[in-house]
Amino acid sequence: MTQLGTAARPLRVAVVGAGPAGLYAAQALLDRPDLLLTVDVLNRFPTPFGLVRDGVAPDHQSIKAVTRVLERTLADPRVRFLGNVTYGVDLHHRDLKRFYDQIVYAVGAQADRRMSVPGEDLPGSFPAISFVGWYNGHPDYRDLPVDLDCERAVVVGNGNVAMDVTRMLVRSPDELAGTDMADYALAALRRSRVREVVVLGRRGAAQASFTTPEVRELGRIEGVDVAVDPADIELDEASRAGMEEDRTAKANLRQLQEYAARPPGSAPRRITLRFLTSPVEVLGNGRAAAVRVERNRLEVDPNGGLRSKGTGRFEVVEAGLVLRSIGYRTVPIEGVPFDPATSTLNNIAGQVVHPSTGEVAPGEYAAGWAKRGPTGKIGNNKPDSASTVAAMLADLPELNGVADDHRDPAKVDAFLRRRGVDVATYTDWQALDAHERAAGAAQGRPRVKLCTVPEMLEVIQRAR
Ligand SMILES: Cc1cc2nc3c(=O)[nH]c(=O)nc-3n(C[C@H](O)[C@H](O)[C@H](O)COP(=O)(O)OP(=O)(O)OC[C@H]3O[C@@H](n4cnc5c(N)ncnc54)[C@H](O)[C@@H]3O)c2cc1C
Repeated sequence: MTQLGTAARPLRVAVVGAGPAGLYAAQALLDRPDLLLTVDVLNRFPTPFGLVRDGVAPDHQSIKAVTRVLERTLADPRVRFLGNVTYGVDLHHRDLKRFYDQIVYAVGAQADRRMSVPGEDLPGSFPAISFVGWYNGHPDYRDLPVDLDCERAVVVGNGNVAMDVTRMLVRSPDELAGTDMADYALAALRRSRVREVVVLGRRGAAQASFTTPEVRELGRIEGVDVAVDPADIELDEASRAGMEEDRTAKANLRQLQEYAARPPGSAPRRITLRFLTSPVEVLGNGRAAAVRVERNRLEVDPNGGLRSKGTGRFEVVEAGLVLRSIGYRTVPIEGVPFDPATSTLNNIAGQVVHPSTGEVAPGEYAAGWAKRGPTGKIGNNKPDSASTVAAMLADLPELNGVADDHRDPAKVDAFLRRRGVDVATYTDWQALDAHERAAGAAQGRPRVKLCTVPEMLEVIQRAR
C-alpha cells in the first residue's frame, strides 16, 4: 500500500465547515512539513468564518480580527474554498467518501436548546441564536419577525451569548451604526421601544456561566443602569464553598455586588439581572406578552453539584420579546453517527465512532463545537483541532485511500457543476469581501453585509 501524504500519493482531505475549527484543522495539516496534501474546505455559504461572522457581537469588532489569521489558511495554494456547498444537500456522504481520503466534520452547533415550557414558540419568543443571526445578517435569519415594539424583553440564560443579546437590545443604535450589524437590524433597533431587559438565571450568582469582562461591560454601556437585588445574590453555604477555587465566580460575584450597591439610577434604559428564577410559561394571546417565572432554590444533586429546584413561588414578568439562551446543540448530519446525550457527532477524541458497535468510521473525524459541544472561545478550537489532526495523522499508515481515478480535485468540480452548484471559490469570497468592505468604507463602517445568498452570488458573478 502506498503511504498516503507522500509525493507518490498526496493526501486528499475534505473539511466540512469553514468556521474556526475547520480552518484550524486545515492549518494544522498544512503545518506538517512532511505531509503532501490538498484540502478542500466546504462551506454552506459563500462567506467563510462561521460564527466569527454570524455570531460574534457587532460591538466586539476587535474579536473579528481573527479572520486575518483564518484567511491565511484559505489563501494557501494547497487549499480550495468550496463555498455555497451544503453537505447533505449538494454533496452526500457517499460522495465525500468517493473523493476524499479523510473528512473532518466541523459543522458547529447551530441549533438551540429548548426551555420546554408552554408558549415557548409564540411569536416574539425566539432562540437567542436566531436573534444573533438576525442582527448579524445570517441568511437563515434575515427574515426573523423581530418586533421591538415593547418596553421589556426577557433573556433567559446566564452565559456570554445572553450578555451579547442583552447589550444589543440596550446599546444606543448610534454606537452600533459604526459596526457591521445588518442594516435592517440597525433600522429596527432605531425604532425599538425596549427600555428594560430582564436576564433570568436559573441558578445563583455563583453558578452563572458568563465571564467577568462580559458582565462588567454591561455596567459601562452609556445610558443604561444595571440593577441587581442584593437579596438575589446572597449565597447559600454550598455556593460559598463551591466557589472557593473558582476565580471567575468570585470576580463575577464582586461585580454583581458592585451593581447591587449602586443607588437606583435614572438612565433611559435598564438591565435587571435576576438569579434563582426560571421561566415556566410564556404567556400571550397570539404573541408573547409575559413570562411566568418560578423562584428556585439550590439543592445538592447526587454528583455533589448544585441544581435548581422550584419553590412553588410564581410571578409574572411582562415582556413582548423573549430570548432563550440556554445552550446550543449540533444538528445531526447525514451519514455521521450522532450522540443525542451530548448533542455532538459521536466521536472519541475527534475520531468518528459508531455508537452501537464502537467501531471507528475510517477516515472520518470531528472538530470544534460539533466534536465537543458548544463551549469555549474561538481560540480554544485551535488546540482542539490540532488534537483531531493528530488522530488523522496516526491513522495514515493504516488508511486505504480513495481510488486513483477519483482523487483529482477537478472531479469534485465536475461533480458539483453537474449538480448545478455555483461554487464560490476563495477568489469569489475575496470579491465579495472587497464589495462589502467598500460599501462599509463609504459609511465609516468595517463592512456592509450582504444578507442573502442570491445577493452574494450576484456580486460574485459580476466580479468573475
Ligand atoms: C452568539 C455567539 C457569540 C460568540 N462570541 C464569541 C466571542 O466574542 N469571542 C470568542 O472567542 N468566541 C465567541 N463565540 C464562540 C465561537 O464562535 C466558537 O468557539 C466557534 O465559532 C466554534 O467554531 P466551529 O468551527 O466549531 O463552529 P462555527 O463557527 O459554527 O462554524 C461552522 C461552519 O460550518 C458550516 N456548516 C454547517 N453545516 C454545514 C453543512 N451541512 N455543509 C457545509 N457547511 C456547513 C457553517 O456555515 C459554519 O461556517 C461565540 C459563539 C456564539 C454562538
